Amino acid sequence: MGTLSPYIGRFAPSPSGPLHTGSILCALASYLDAKANAGTWLVRMEDIDPPREEPGAKERILKTLQQHSLCWDGEILYQSTRSSAYTEALTNLKAKQLGYHCDCNRKRLLSINHIYDGHCRNRDILQQLPYSIRLNCDNAVHQYGLPPEITFKDAIQGVQKENVLEQGDFVIHRKDGLFAYQLAVVVDDIYQGITHIVRGADLLDTTAKQIFLTKLLQGQAINYGHIPVIVDSTGAKLSKQNHAPAVNDETPQANLLQVAKLLGLDCSRLSTQHSTREILTSLIAQWSIKNIPRQRSIAYESIQ
Ligand code: GLU
Ligand code: ZN
Repeated sequence: MGTLSPYIGRFAPSPSGPLHTGSILCALASYLDAKANAGTWLVRMEDIDPPREEPGAKERILKTLQQHSLCWDGEILYQSTRSSAYTEALTNLKAKQLGYHCDCNRKRLLSINHIYDGHCRNRDILQQLPYSIRLNCDNAVHQYGLPPEITFKDAIQGVQKENVLEQGDFVIHRKDGLFAYQLAVVVDDIYQGITHIVRGADLLDTTAKQIFLTKLLQGQAINYGHIPVIVDSTGAKLSKQNHAPAVNDETPQANLLQVAKLLGLDCSRLSTQHSTREILTSLIAQWSIKNIPRQRSIAYESIQ
């Protein structure tokens, strides 16, 4: 990615469980891209969903990163400390008629395939009922002149085009009272001055929404690169939810070498006899984001 402007990247784990092979792949890719561009690499703990949080996961994730010498710059930002910033963003959006209450139930949302049709845009929803807040994309386009067509060049997956009006108004505050990922991620990427995001391709389809919201909140444009995600035999992403095995902190060199190969890096001269630092130094020196295979997924069996 660009080397002229200052680079600020980040790894943003959710503490719903320990890191697994897919998350180490993601952490390593974002770390290497930042370091190869003389950039800053931040860690942001996305702990705004307490029901999905696993006790001790935050500490365990940080320890795993340290065991792999994936040392972050500066302080960790915990999203759980950012409620007032998210509330302020919501208040501003609502004041500009860009956020509205929606009390549609699951059944209705399922019937429209979760592509929201604007049903509640002009309804008066009682304050005391549980409701979500959705971004009024239609108003953003027609009153504030934001182009609905989002085109961006992903550094790995190539040019992406999406029309946010076709994707429907998305949730920025959840019905269960929690802040939505889409809002928190954008508010914090702006707040932290993030210039480059390298993350899993499972988030490629939400990127247009995030770019749109970033523009609405007057954030600077961000460069994206979406790496392939590791999937199991059913095609599902390895995740904490489907109980992907935790990374073994006792074998950090082997773990790094295993995932480095998936990023198109040459590990033939590296072995587990090298220190994690030595391995990372070699990987930084040969890093090129262009060598990452341009695919959205990699089968877990193929890397064992
Ligand atoms: N916290 C998200 C996750 O663990 C990642 C968010 C992001 O990188 O934008 O899936
Ligand atoms: Zn609704």
